[in-house]
Amino acid sequence: MSGLNLAQQEAVNYMQGPCLVLAGAGSGKTRVITHKIGRLIQTGVAAKRILAITFTNKAAAEMRERAKSLIGREAKEVVICTFHALGVRLLRQDGEALGLKAQFSILDSDDVTSILKDAGGTTDAATARQWQWAISLWKNMGLNAAQAEAQAKDDHERVTARIMARYEERLTAYQSVDFDDLISLPLKLLRDHEAVRRKWQELLGHVLVDEYQDTNATQYELLKLLVGDKGRFTAVGDDDQSIYGWRGATLDNLRRLPQDWPNLKVVKLEQNYRSTSAILRAANNVIQPNPKLFPKTLFSELGEGEPVRVVDCDNEEHEADRVVARIQSIRANGMGKEWKDFAVLYRANHQARIFEQALRKAQVPYKVSGGQSFFDRAEIRDLCAWLRLWVNNDDDPAFLRSITTPKRGIGHTTLQNLGTFAGKYKLSLFAALFSSSLGSVLPAKAVGSLHEFGRYVNDLEFRARRTEGAEDARAFLTEWLKDIGYEKHLYDSEESEKLAASRWTNVMEFCDWMAQRCGGQIDDTAGVSITSDKKNLLEVAQTIALLSTISEREKDQNVVTLSTLHASKGLEWPHVMLVGCVEGMLPFKLDDDDGKKGQANESILQRLQEERRLMYVGITRAQRSLAVSWTKRRKKGREMVAAQPSRFIAEMALDKATVKEDPREKLKALRAEFAKKSADAAAASAAAAAAGTP
Ligand code: ATP
Ligand code: MG
Repeated sequence: MSGLNLAQQEAVNYMQGPCLVLAGAGSGKTRVITHKIGRLIQTGVAAKRILAITFTNKAAAEMRERAKSLIGREAKEVVICTFHALGVRLLRQDGEALGLKAQFSILDSDDVTSILKDAGGTTDAATARQWQWAISLWKNMGLNAAQAEAQAKDDHERVTARIMARYEERLTAYQSVDFDDLISLPLKLLRDHEAVRRKWQELLGHVLVDEYQDTNATQYELLKLLVGDKGRFTAVGDDDQSIYGWRGATLDNLRRLPQDWPNLKVVKLEQNYRSTSAILRAANNVIQPNPKLFPKTLFSELGEGEPVRVVDCDNEEHEADRVVARIQSIRANGMGKEWKDFAVLYRANHQARIFEQALRKAQVPYKVSGGQSFFDRAEIRDLCAWLRLWVNNDDDPAFLRSITTPKRGIGHTTLQNLGTFAGKYKLSLFAALFSSSLGSVLPAKAVGSLHEFGRYVNDLEFRARRTEGAEDARAFLTEWLKDIGYEKHLYDSEESEKLAASRWTNVMEFCDWMAQRCGGQIDDTAGVSITSDKKNLLEVAQTIALLSTISEREKDQNVVTLSTLHASKGLEWPHVMLVGCVEGMLPFKLDDDDGKKGQANESILQRLQEERRLMYVGITRAQRSLAVSWTKRRKKGREMVAAQPSRFIAEMALDKATVKEDPREKLKALRAEFAKKSADAAAASAAAAAAGTP
């Protein structure tokens, strides 16, 4: 119980029924979850009967670390994962009841786009992605194609709903699920199959959910079925930090909790342990204009601290220079020592580039968090397609990618005919390939090459299943890549040798990564696997699809973090710089593309409120210092246009006397940096002299 205040202790000690911890940023909500895991184990709940749900895989990994240091080895057994990883677990174990085989494939967003192109008869990716978006929202609301069509408001929606029906047929045929299915299918499973539901309800002793404000309707339904009538769960959240409404998250989940659970215990936390009073005041002021779902107060005992600064810049390059200068000056005056104490936060991914350039020029180490994931790289996706095909022969998208990468002389027409044939007999492409009547639609030579491919895949699958341990898996992967000539394929298809070489390095890294998991050295596969038993390659391959969403493979490096505001949720840094705070960026453009009359005002207002919460999230990431910067001019397409400071800067209601950062800061920083360098150099040569080396 040490390190918890009274309200936190109350939440941690209450185990008999549903509990909601509702509190502002930095008040120790996540800490309550970690400590409660420990407390539950202490009172005799078996670790494997505890389920903690986090918002990202990275947060899951972090929570596991904290739990480990709190309760030791037993923490390994606790299931800590995202809703999606939980969905995979449920479906792999019990999906058979839905007609899903245990080796089903998980499609990524690109696979979905191409299936939709096919289902909707278009070659235009943008159109397909619009359908994808709409279908995803429907699925998150718990609607199937028929229900979506029934509630469609116009022809466009009706058409989309019909395409959804065809899309769903294809997924079933491919024994594949998309990301939304990872929530909606487990929901269906528990809802329609009493035995399965009972099994899970008996298994789970307590369920804890972090970032509850960003759950969507289906996730809440799933939670309800998991915990049953006893309702042994703990949800923690902050309505002011709900920033995923655009993806279907709904604050209704918070609103409904007290109604659905009349015996709900609500705990409010009021002390913020993260930020100074100056920072907290700015945060409270910003969020003030939003309607209050639950009124909250938040105070800090960390002292007033440095005033929040507003940095006026001419343009983005200037802004980037000033960010670098600020980092250097804070380091020089001893307020922050480590690079990892700093974060630069922005609204949209593309804003990172200019800051990257400036940091590189100044030789400041950094990482871009939430950028392109390792698993999104073409070469890794190539390999994953092969692995998916071994695990699930019916995965048609994986089949098509494998059979054409690298090219093996099987042409488009052959594949098209195979596709038509498979469609006619309702077979997967792989099953169709071995059909005895395939010869009636394809020349013998084509059938021959298809058979060769099919046999090769069967052989690989057979051998992958028999790998034992890391070394064996590595040897197998190496041989396979040599067999298919993947390295040569990279060098043939890349324009520059340098690029090909870097792709090949990624491939090697991927093989290492797989091998380590086969050896059981790594047991945190994003919360999917909790044992450290050795696994064969096929078992490891089954968990990969899920990882493809993680961009966070990074270790705890000592570098400056560049991150979007969305990806910064739940995290904290001593020094935060919120950049690009201009109208049109933050709040993000509110006016265009929203033509629907009548609804427009309401939806603009809601979006503005969500942007304001985003600003609140950004401000509350800072522990000791916060600077907010804006540019007088900004790029809009190819043009430079005049820009206005974000309305949120005014809403922070900062003290006019202290607000502006001194423009001479840069000069001072350079001087200080120079002084520090000379001092370091002097110290180094003194040390060298003392050690007797020249
Ligand atoms: P967010 O809303 O941003 O997710 P949170 O409410 O989850 O924040 P935590 O991340 O759990 O807050 O805690 C914020 C910081 O305060 C952490 O550094 C945590 O270690 C510290 N903290 C939390 N509770 C206490 C406490 N009782 N005593 C000392 N430090 C605490
Ligand atoms: Mg938290």
